[in-house]
Amino acid sequence: MDSPYLLGKLTRREFRQRMASGELQAVILPVAAIEQHLEHLAMEHDWRSVNLIAQRIATNLSPHVLVAQGIMAGVSEHHMTHPGTLTLRPGTFLNAVNDLVRSLIKAGFSNILVLNGHGGNIAVCQSNWDQFQREFQVNLQFLSYWDVLTAEDATELLKSGHRLPQDLPGHAQEFETSVALHAFAENVRTDALADQVDPTPSLATAETGEAFVERIVQRCSAFLNEMIQGTRTAPVPDFHP
Ligand SMILES: [Zn+2]
Repeated sequence: MDSPYLLGKLTRREFRQRMASGELQAVILPVAAIEQHLEHLAMEHDWRSVNLIAQRIATNLSPHVLVAQGIMAGVSEHHMTHPGTLTLRPGTFLNAVNDLVRSLIKAGFSNILVLNGHGGNIAVCQSNWDQFQREFQVNLQFLSYWDVLTAEDATELLKSGHRLPQDLPGHAQEFETSVALHAFAENVRTDALADQVDPTPSLATAETGEAFVERIVQRCSAFLNEMIQGTRTAPVPDFHP
């Protein structure tokens, strides 16, 4: 099988047997956005990049992790002035996350990482996450994949002078454009890189993207491995009497 870590590629028998054997210990649910990424980068960027990271984590931790390809579109009302952007209203997005988490728990998972690839999804999830944890009582965590990077990574790798945490991921800027040049270069229109109001994305290189992806995959894998080992648990808040 080409992609034994993708939930959707398994048959029901394969899933049943792997879960019953105890082999499957965690699942990643990627969430993202389909939205404008300036003039030079394809609108699928957030979805494409978060799946790249998720699949590399699952490969690192094989055979214990599945990727349940989650929600392609996210909360992107702030990009709707650019036609082609798709957006979910915050309540719709949260309901979809909740329903998919519920399905994964029913399938037998108790370590669930919602891996985020879009800045607009953060506030919506953070403000509701403790309610989800109260409801589900499993190790359910939310992580934006760039959150594992440090200020030192940015200083070392970025030519644009963009900093962490305030400038990352930086919408279609040097960071995202470098990741695309490294992993799916067909999504970058190189002739448009400098042909726009802010030409900063033209500083992006595939080498920068590769260095970022390596660090992100390594650290996100460690994050998820700690969930599996039980050393990183979601703080399930107390119920108020
Ligand atoms: Zn983006």
